[in-house]
Amino acid sequence: MRYWNEWKQSMMHLFFPSLCALCKQALLVQENTLCFACEHKLPYTHFHALPNNETTLRLAGRFPFKQATSLFYFTQESAVQQLMHALKYEHRPAIGTYFGSLLGQQLREMEAFQAIDGIVAIPLHYKKEQQRGYNQSNLIAAACAEAMGLPFYNKAIVRKRFTQTQTLKTRSERVDNMEEAFFIKNTELLIGKHLLIIDDVLTTGATIEACALQVLKIPNTQVSIATIGVVI
Ligand SMILES: [Zn+2]
Repeated sequence: MRYWNEWKQSMMHLFFPSLCALCKQALLVQENTLCFACEHKLPYTHFHALPNNETTLRLAGRFPFKQATSLFYFTQESAVQQLMHALKYEHRPAIGTYFGSLLGQQLREMEAFQAIDGIVAIPLHYKKEQQRGYNQSNLIAAACAEAMGLPFYNKAIVRKRFTQTQTLKTRSERVDNMEEAFFIKNTELLIGKHLLIIDDVLTTGATIEACALQVLKIPNTQVSIATIGVVI
């Protein structure tokens, strides 16, 4: 049976090969989402073990956290930007799972991330999630949790309303506007835990700050932060 399944898989692959999400070349059976050549060229930050990395410095002083890191540098027109665009706007959920697995595989090797009890994702408003078909941060968080062997507390935090566009506001206005947007639905579940909050891309950090401030109202919680991209 196993050989039959493997044979079927190889035949499917031969006739309908998956393509690399970047260079569009046919993937090998052992490749997933990206070919090894494209994966190798991704701009890894190697931040995880650095206490004063760019992600940490951007969030420092805004709320107390244990660790903060990002997997990739995010610049306009870059490969990571293309992938993130496909994930968010071209219905490519597999890219979220791929990103999350890469992140989880790296973090599980890191001393600094061993104390984490569970993972939460920055939620989207349900209308936005419905439009998109999924919350990309949930896909990333679920795959990261699986790779790290940790629970993913899906739906423990909800986003209450659409926030107005953030672009023209000052930083403190943004934070006020955002903080009210998050609501902890399952406080009991999160009490006393060290939670890794996951988001797709870190820009100003206002969304993460607002969400973290709500999580930190739960008794005895600690937070760490991980994002796939950091805008530089
Ligand atoms: Zn490729």
